[in-house]
Amino acid sequence: MESKIAPVKMFFFPFVGGGHQIPMIDTARVFASHGAISTIITTPSNAIDFNSSITRDQQSGLNITIHILTLPPNIAEITDMSAGPMTDTSALLEPFKDFLIHDKPDCIVIDFFHRWAGEVVDELQIRRLMFTGNACFPRCVQENIRKHVQLEDLSSDYEPFVVPHLPNRIEMTRSRVPIFLRNPSQFPDRLKTMKNLEEKSFGTIVNSFYELEPAYADYIRKDFGMKAWLVGPVSLCNRSKEDKTDRGKLSTIDEQSCLNWLSSKEPNSVLYVSFGSLARLPDQQIKEIAYALEASDQSFIWVVRTTTSSSKNEENGGADFLPDGFEERMKENQKGLIIRGWAPQLLILEHEAVGGFLTHCGWNSTLEGVSTGVPMITWPLSAEQFSNEKLVTDVLKIGVQVGSKEWGIHTEEWKEVLGREKVELAVKKLMGKSEEGEEMRRRVKEIAGKARKAVEEGGTSYAEVEALIEELKALRV
Ligand code: UDP
Repeated sequence: MESKIAPVKMFFFPFVGGGHQIPMIDTARVFASHGAISTIITTPSNAIDFNSSITRDQQSGLNITIHILTLPPNIAEITDMSAGPMTDTSALLEPFKDFLIHDKPDCIVIDFFHRWAGEVVDELQIRRLMFTGNACFPRCVQENIRKHVQLEDLSSDYEPFVVPHLPNRIEMTRSRVPIFLRNPSQFPDRLKTMKNLEEKSFGTIVNSFYELEPAYADYIRKDFGMKAWLVGPVSLCNRSKEDKTDRGKLSTIDEQSCLNWLSSKEPNSVLYVSFGSLARLPDQQIKEIAYALEASDQSFIWVVRTTTSSSKNEENGGADFLPDGFEERMKENQKGLIIRGWAPQLLILEHEAVGGFLTHCGWNSTLEGVSTGVPMITWPLSAEQFSNEKLVTDVLKIGVQVGSKEWGIHTEEWKEVLGREKVELAVKKLMGKSEEGEEMRRRVKEIAGKARKAVEEGGTSYAEVEALIEELKALRV
């Protein structure tokens, strides 16, 4: 009976940029693995980043394709993984609309940052789902700050306040709050458009899983009235070594040498250090991290990038800014592996030698740390990362804070250089053999087990994918 109903046809329109494109591609693959016909809409160069994993999916029988938009002449393609929230993609409007006019799906999942796309889709009367890339928790934190806290009444940027009406006691300061909440008048159109985009949509797809943040998943549904499907962690759809290695971009390190290096280490003894796909650290901050790692005698893998202003050094990944002889010493005593460019993050995180993750708390990295059972040192910088930090350290209790407190935009000057002492202290706290560290490790491994269960048959995320597919089918009648 059921097989007579045609599969649902879903389009996915990801935003360029690591933290957005990567999880949306995985989401399209997840839905295809549940029998949907998935089409990813993108531009020529961006398709290169995920083409091979889609080909592998096709070879294994999944119904998934890439639709390439032909750009109007003289329009430069936005291909950089470091495209940020302000990047305007509206040059894609015409080819995007043209494609939709000729080929209508049951629904289209759109990234929040394609601010112009909602209107086009609504005009064509196509069911639209949103993808923000965030979890439920930061949503609740930010929305309740927006609604209930008079930030301008605080005595300083550093006066702590408790975010009202949340299931947990979450303390914040103004310095950790995104600029668009601190100065909403500066962004009136952007905020209004984004709010409209979501309110008028059919619902939201969330890369998270119910057991991770049950109170907050309930909160967005009941208190905010959002229709949301928690379908993650979507990164767990990468099961083969190939998929894990070249996820997002081709790795700049040979994955086998990376794995060999890790295999020479004791379980839980290596710290993985990465600040995601966007952040570029200034030289001074890179130096402080290097000194801290060396002083703490910690084995590490470090993905090093420099500030955008130092782009001439981008190619060598900031080698000039590492302290004199640091890299040679780390190589000689086998303490550290430095990766310049793109690391095979999933492969690294799931290796048993990795016992800690120093992260900027981008949601994907955070969730990848959670689902591979790795406790974290949290170093939030921007976006909703300061909220993610609170989820990790105050709610889930699976990480220690390095102590960053200044929210900034990655394109602007770096606001706060953290000294080596702070970094070293956090490294020792997490990686040293303390009871506190062991307890965090135990807790995160337990949560990782729940993450894996969630995406398997019988799990919550699995059920939510199925539920959305069934709902879309039912709506055809
Ligand atoms: N990533 C990776 N290798 C790198 C840097 C990043 O595979 O060298 C991936 C990482 O696994 C994650 C994404 O890029 O899936 C980064 O997303 P996140 O939300 O953590 O941070 P953002 O880059 O958006 O700041």
